[in-house]
Amino acid sequence: MATVGIVGGGIAGTAAAYGLRDSSVDAVLFEAGEALGGRMVTRERDGCVYDYGANFIKGADDRFRTVLAEAVGEDLDTVEGTIRVFDSEGTISAGRNDQAPKYTTRDGVRGIAAAFARESGATIATDTRVGHLDRHVGGWTLSTAGGREETVDGLILALPASETTSLLADADWGQQLRDDLMVAAERVPYRPVDSVVCHYPFELDRPFYALVSEDDGHQVGWLSREECKPGHVPDGESLLVVQLNPDWTRQHPNAETETVETVAREGASDLLDDERLLDPDWTDHARWASAVPNHGIDPGLVERPLSYDLALAGDWVAGTGRTYAALQTGLEAADKIENRVLA
Ligand SMILES: Cc1cc2nc3c(=O)[nH]c(=O)nc-3n(C[C@H](O)[C@H](O)[C@H](O)COP(=O)(O)OP(=O)(O)OC[C@H]3O[C@@H](n4cnc5c(N)ncnc54)[C@H](O)[C@@H]3O)c2cc1C
Repeated sequence: MATVGIVGGGIAGTAAAYGLRDSSVDAVLFEAGEALGGRMVTRERDGCVYDYGANFIKGADDRFRTVLAEAVGEDLDTVEGTIRVFDSEGTISAGRNDQAPKYTTRDGVRGIAAAFARESGATIATDTRVGHLDRHVGGWTLSTAGGREETVDGLILALPASETTSLLADADWGQQLRDDLMVAAERVPYRPVDSVVCHYPFELDRPFYALVSEDDGHQVGWLSREECKPGHVPDGESLLVVQLNPDWTRQHPNAETETVETVAREGASDLLDDERLLDPDWTDHARWASAVPNHGIDPGLVERPLSYDLALAGDWVAGTGRTYAALQTGLEAADKIENRVLA
């Protein structure tokens, strides 16, 4: 039976594995981290569950919704509440009329990638970084950092642009196409995000789930209430996820966590007009140097590696830094590579 290797266990890679579940190929997925999910990542503390990378997954496309419902099933939860906008003065208005449901699970957004992987039936190797690729006629050999080798008939790289560049740079694949792909991937610009989580031992009653900056003029870019996700925050408590404006993060590349958290606390207190928010009882902070790509690469270039049994997936391949877009590239990569290796 033909085998397809998938490198990367974010939503693009796990969706690719899921896309191959009913095919006549075997799939093996390699994920460098301890857990699946990539930037769909969740932490737990003191009875709270919080998504500190991607906040949720949403999309209006029919195939997306069908696949999400099939793969995640009853574990899928809808985030309650709307998203409003605010301006540079912090004035909140009704904002976007976007009614598409926003999904997570009780276990956080990580549960979505985990469900795709579970339902795929693929062999999953976490804690396994692929360090080298070797092209040979009719397939690829992958070598992991731990010395494991796997020869596959088709390969899906489901990595962020910079990791794709690093793997290609070191690959034994003497083609001009490799250089073209590396140059294109290197040019994809990413926005950084400082994500600060603030916990309060009291309930915060507001008529919305989240606030998003409409003009990037405030030090806060995004603020959301994790208690709007079923089962994420115990009753009588609140947990805010505050993402700073990417310009602030760019201008303060060496800011200490304490400084970042102070800016986030002050921003939250200002936006929600509540001085109690200056004083959370615990906080958490993650700096994402490359959080979200601003655009992608030429779609024609995405197709070319297929002649070498290689498909690319990930949000930067879609040109949209969104979970649903990454998921769709994974499903598409699975379709294309399946056709290729079975041809
Ligand atoms: C702070 C933040 C907020 C966001 N908010 C939203 C939001 O609200 N809504 C939304 O739709 N999107 C949001 N996004 C964007 C969303 O998270 C991404 O678009 C999506 O998760 C990208 O998925 P991916 O599979 O393409 O890449 P990733 O999730 O980055 O997955 C790539 C995986 O590859 C693994 N890997 C890397 N190198 C190797 C290697 N050599 N070998 C094996 N594995 C490797 C990594 O460990 C990782 O797990 C946000 C992102 C961030 C960071």
